[in-house]
Amino acid sequence: MLGSGLAGLRAAEVLREKNFQGKITLVGAESHLPYNRPPLSKQFLAGEWEEDRVRLRLPAEFHSLELEFLKGLKVVGLDLQQRSVQLSQGTAIDFDGLVIATGAENRQLPALEGRPRVFTLRTLTEALALRQALSDAKSLLIVGGGFIGSEVAATAHGLGIRVCIVEPQQTLMYRGLGEEVGSAVTNLHREKGIDVRCNTEIAHVHDDGERTSIELSDGTTHTPDVILVGIGATPTTDWLSGSNVHLSNGVVCDENCRVMTADGLAVKSVVAAGDVARWFSRSQNCLVRSEHWTNAQDQAVNAAHTLLLDLNGEGGNALPYDPVPYMWSDQFGKKIQAIGFGDPTDEVHIVKGALSDGKFLAIMERENRFVGAIGVAMVPLVMQARILLTEGASLDVAREKLAS
Ligand code: ADP
Repeated sequence: MLGSGLAGLRAAEVLREKNFQGKITLVGAESHLPYNRPPLSKQFLAGEWEEDRVRLRLPAEFHSLELEFLKGLKVVGLDLQQRSVQLSQGTAIDFDGLVIATGAENRQLPALEGRPRVFTLRTLTEALALRQALSDAKSLLIVGGGFIGSEVAATAHGLGIRVCIVEPQQTLMYRGLGEEVGSAVTNLHREKGIDVRCNTEIAHVHDDGERTSIELSDGTTHTPDVILVGIGATPTTDWLSGSNVHLSNGVVCDENCRVMTADGLAVKSVVAAGDVARWFSRSQNCLVRSEHWTNAQDQAVNAAHTLLLDLNGEGGNALPYDPVPYMWSDQFGKKIQAIGFGDPTDEVHIVKGALSDGKFLAIMERENRFVGAIGVAMVPLVMQARILLTEGASLDVAREKLAS
């Protein structure tokens, strides 16, 4: 089991629930017990929750899984022929079955990397450092107005910090929400007093050893107390180079989460799950990857079932992994939820509420089909939309049921 995040933990739990009695080794690059990432940019950063509250399981629950937990160790290589993985301190572990759940890593911005007062946020350790830095900060500049940037902006604003977001796209959260809904979220931030600068890039950076100054493409220069870079993530696959695993924006898997080789063969008893896995979705008829919490949780279950079938030599397949994606974000006390494989080019129909009220349900149309929905402060309706999407409802049915 490689990776001690949500996907790695869930896969281990499923194996034990299904009565797998063999040895399970869990390798984690971090030294914490598995923890939950969503609160890191919210309750944990705000100082409302401490470390014990972000743990995914109580220590006793975790220990009851009877795993060999190799923490603070990285996996640096995989030999598919020998069925062994190499670890950073030089040892190797042989395996019968393998779950690859190494997650993703934040993209870095070379112009800002290593400069004073510049932070990124993914791990608990990084969240602690950012929280500490914000504790006496008056101003925060966020580079990247995606999920992390928007959530941290809302949290920091709640701490009384002046926040500016720099985003090269036309709206906040453009990739996940598209232009219309992204604009509504951008307006929500602006109404709260966040200085959101869209269509804006970093033009120049310098530091005096103490503070970093950023000149933007709009001609303004900012020297904030803290800078956060939140410009997306890339799957953690560098350790697989040369392993004959098919890598293409993640570990390529079949529809049952089995890892594929570069020659197009599915490897028995080697599966992947979570942010790192790019699997074949039957409904989309293409490879897809998701960095969201629900996917890590659900895909790990499917991957563990596949692994058990392979290990038991029973042949056959678990059900193909083909979920309706679901993600959420909390900003300024509002829940933003999206379902489906949305794309910024989808046509948007507001079926309930209004974009201008900051409370609405949008459904997405592509080629005359109902392909997704986004709700802001519309929790029950989003759940209804999720069921309709899972059932394959038509656009008309979705519109009628959700608007009534
Ligand atoms: P994250 O989970 O880190 O928030 P997202 O993909 O949701 O990831 O958002 C990343 C955001 O960063 C996107 O809105 C993207 O437009 C923005 N971005 C990407 N590259 C840069 C860059 N070089 N400078 C500023 N923003 C960037």
